[in-house]
Amino acid sequence: MKIGREIVLRLLKRYSDKIREEDFLAVYVSKDHKDLFTILIATILTQNTSDKNALKAFHNLMKKTNGRIDPENILNMDISELEMLVKPAGMYRRRAKTLINVARFFINEKKSIEKMILSRECEKLKEKLLEIEGVGEKTVDVVLLNMMSCPYFPVDTHIMRITRRLGLVDERAGYKEISSFWRSVVDEVYYLKLHLILIHHGRTICRAIKPLCEKCVIKDLCRYREKTG
Ligand code: SF4
Repeated sequence: MKIGREIVLRLLKRYSDKIREEDFLAVYVSKDHKDLFTILIATILTQNTSDKNALKAFHNLMKKTNGRIDPENILNMDISELEMLVKPAGMYRRRAKTLINVARFFINEKKSIEKMILSRECEKLKEKLLEIEGVGEKTVDVVLLNMMSCPYFPVDTHIMRITRRLGLVDERAGYKEISSFWRSVVDEVYYLKLHLILIHHGRTICRAIKPLCEKCVIKDLCRYREKTG
């Protein structure tokens, strides 16, 4: 716990002024769009791709829908057209199918979703959104943290790698354990900031291949080199 706090302090100091909202599509979109559907669509576009590619696909959808991405607009599109619009984000067939699932789900569950948003029922809303085929826990946590400041700590591939390398969790630790670790280290008002900072650290220094350990501000607290020799 003590090491965890020290790591957070150093990362905050190093990266606080380096985070640009436009590098994180969900954050960027949440600024201008307060509706759950649009933020969820944007977050699905970021799955397994860079935010840069996801942003291109998002702009395509915005252009096609005249700035209003809603379930009806998605369902009114021809599947092949939708696939072409989301193509910059990759895996376009699967992604288009997920967007259609989401649109249908939102039409069917409109009232219950609206009620949960109004009463800020984070847990119920999370359970509800996880019923959608193709939508996983990380996506839901990103959406609810960004949109409603729900107390979730999303763990992406960068955060998973960094946390394991640091030796803060077991090598085989999964999503829930890693998320719970970071939630135990900082107050929930810092969840989003720390989430973005860890991703930035993973993109720039603690890269998947050839991490730049010599330049790392937490290298003396990390067990990676100890483990890899
Ligand atoms: S020392 Fe290396 S492995 Fe450890 S957190 Fe820093 S960059 Fe990642």
